[in-house]
Amino acid sequence: MKNYKLDTLCVQAGYKPKTGESRIPAISQSTTFFYGDTQAMADCFDLKSAGYFYSRLSNPTVAAFEGKVAALEGGVAAIGCSSGMSATTLSVFTVAGAGDNILSSAEVYGGTYNLFGTTLPKLGIECRFFNPDSSAEEIEKLIDGKTKMVFIETVANPAISVVDFDKIAKICKKHGVLLAVDNTLATPALCRPKEFGANVIIHSSSKYLDGHAAALGGVIVDCGNFDFKASERYASFNQPDESYHGLVYSDLPVAVFATKCRAQMIRDIGAIMSPQNAFLSYIGSDTLALRMEKHSANAAKVAEYLSKHPKIEWVRHPSLKSDKYHELAKKYLPDGQGGMLSFGIKGNSQKCALFMESLQLITQETHVADVRSCVLHPASTTHRQLSKEDLAAAGVPENLIRLSVGIENAEDIIADIAQALEKV
Ligand SMILES: *Cc1c(COP(=O)(O)O)cnc(C)c1O
Repeated sequence: MKNYKLDTLCVQAGYKPKTGESRIPAISQSTTFFYGDTQAMADCFDLKSAGYFYSRLSNPTVAAFEGKVAALEGGVAAIGCSSGMSATTLSVFTVAGAGDNILSSAEVYGGTYNLFGTTLPKLGIECRFFNPDSSAEEIEKLIDGKTKMVFIETVANPAISVVDFDKIAKICKKHGVLLAVDNTLATPALCRPKEFGANVIIHSSSKYLDGHAAALGGVIVDCGNFDFKASERYASFNQPDESYHGLVYSDLPVAVFATKCRAQMIRDIGAIMSPQNAFLSYIGSDTLALRMEKHSANAAKVAEYLSKHPKIEWVRHPSLKSDKYHELAKKYLPDGQGGMLSFGIKGNSQKCALFMESLQLITQETHVADVRSCVLHPASTTHRQLSKEDLAAAGVPENLIRLSVGIENAEDIIADIAQALEKV
């Protein structure tokens, strides 16, 4: 499947039926799998053959979705997880333990920020946050001998900033540190982080990847391009795993990261994707390439409209020439910048509430990045515990509205915004 273009892979990759089998992946709704002879099953346990034996470790429906996402990202293997958050958690656990540290952009998804800033430290893993706009020298200073991962988002949620891959990838290369990229909001339809130096790619498939908002899910993609043997940082990859008959992961010919992640973390923690959700995510991702085109085109039109509206103080979308991240978007997201934008209404929280309650088509939700347009006012919802000063420090001014532009007709979306702004 390697030489096909992305829109072809969206509908063809991950599953190929044999004669007489279902054309799309069947839902293998079974915890366990039958074996006629003991040796065949033992070989599976020894990782000598790739059969299924228990759905906490792998499942045919989940494997179809994993195969598709791996192909879309140009990776060598993928692991379907129960959510985007578990995908991030299991990725960190695969490389880091108590006494280690990771670096993360401060502009990451709120759930990731909590995981890294609050929960990981309780387990002895320190996270050192950096401003993604800082110089390479400043970021580099945070790396020491115990640093196991640098974590960034292609397009940050909710900051809508575009990461400078070249700057970050260069630092990782120089120090031999694994680069993990959350590509949820860009998706492989708009950006393939492996081409810019990513070693591990993480998705919340609950968003654009499935598109319909029917299934929670996450995916970890192993890009297969990190030399664990060459680096002294990764002893746990280069020493025998006593919990796996003394296997040395870095000796494996392929998918070193994914194999360790599945054999240790998925085995011990679970948090695997369910067959039902894998099926929904698989069929949802068929239309990814088409949808991302429309999300991007719609959001660019809405951003342009808002940027000229007298009641709007500011708008953030990388398609706008005036946007701080426009140049980086040209380099890394040339085919479209996705459907997420934010803007500030002139005035306070009450004005924002009035605007949102006046919308008729666009709905208020916590979710983002599915086919339906939706809005959120962080200051009165996800960030409501923060004072006015704290909000400003977090880059979430009181008047910020986050808009996830769907794939409805752009004229209808703009008309809805226009009539709601009239009431403000
Ligand atoms: C939603 C989201 C997550 C978390 O995914 P869940 O599936 O909700 O656990 C992680 N990263 C980004 C960028 C997200 O938008």
